[in-house]
Amino acid sequence: MEPQGLQKTYVCLGSCQAVVTEDEYESGMTACNNESCSMKGEPLVRGKKSEVTGQNEKVEEQKEL
Ligand SMILES: [Zn+2]
Repeated sequence: MEPQGLQKTYVCLGSCQAVVTEDEYESGMTACNNESCSMKGEPLVRGKKSEVTGQNEKVEEQKEL
């Protein structure tokens, strides 16, 4: 069980600004499929919606020790 708020999310950096959970990503939602998105078909990236700008931003993976 992961605490709320710590689940990884994946985001589209295109115009649709989609956010999917890790579960959704694992089940096959690995690329943007929004017809009107500027990055349709591009892979989603590890990231989240910034609380500062309201825009999706990439998050660097923490390196395991
Ligand atoms: Zn998109």
